[in-house]
Amino acid sequence: MSNRVRIKQRVYQACEEVWYEQKFVSPIDVLLKGKFLQQAQIEDWRKGRITYLEKVIAGNLNAITFAMKCFREWSCNKGLKPSPTAYLSRTRGSRKELRFSKSGMPSIEMAYRTHYVSPQLIEEQKQKRKEKHEQFVMRIVFRLLIETQCSQCKRLLNIGRFVRVEENQLLCQSCVELSEFVFLPKGDPQLTTSVRELSTKFAIVLQENFVTKTHERQGLLVQPEILERANTVIEINRRAIELKSRKKQKKRPSLHCRILR
Ligand SMILES: [Zn+2]
Repeated sequence: MSNRVRIKQRVYQACEEVWYEQKFVSPIDVLLKGKFLQQAQIEDWRKGRITYLEKVIAGNLNAITFAMKCFREWSCNKGLKPSPTAYLSRTRGSRKELRFSKSGMPSIEMAYRTHYVSPQLIEEQKQKRKEKHEQFVMRIVFRLLIETQCSQCKRLLNIGRFVRVEENQLLCQSCVELSEFVFLPKGDPQLTTSVRELSTKFAIVLQENFVTKTHERQGLLVQPEILERANTVIEINRRAIELKSRKKQKKRPSLHCRILR
């Protein structure tokens, strides 16, 4: 069996095993699994003790280049999508981009930094990022201290109403799909914590303090059904605690009984 055939077999098998374990493949994981690299060498490289990774990969440069070619070939045959990944050193202070190749050529560096993942996983990650972003932009509203008008629907907004600021526009609750949300003022930490735990969507209410020129937190805008559920949960817990303490008291003999004995 020629050396190239052996390398291809080792790489392909390593790819299968890595894929089975984590549902994506990376050159480092495959080189490690195929025993072209040792974990300790990777650690040393990550800590900046080895200038470039190819220095410690088993085999000459031709063999390594061929192994990398086999890795890409296996990934493409599997229908996986390239996903460039940053590799930063684990050194104290500033974290530098790690170097893989002897030549340092950008195309070779990129090949080492590219993971291959399933297209489905990429879609799922995109969706998650989108949801996170939507949640984040939903998060802050301001309580009005002066009368104003909604930039979009032109409705008059009285003092105490809530607005969102988006691209320098003041938008009322209805225009940012928060019309159903109700105000939960701060001051009841137990209720606030319970609401936050139960909510997937809520907004933080801020109000400007003209004296300190800062924005102070006033409470939350929450979904009414969540607020109701949070109140119920707290009430159930309160009753449970009460019942427990009553049972404890019953078990303890009264002072009168103790004297009789
Ligand atoms: Zn509006």
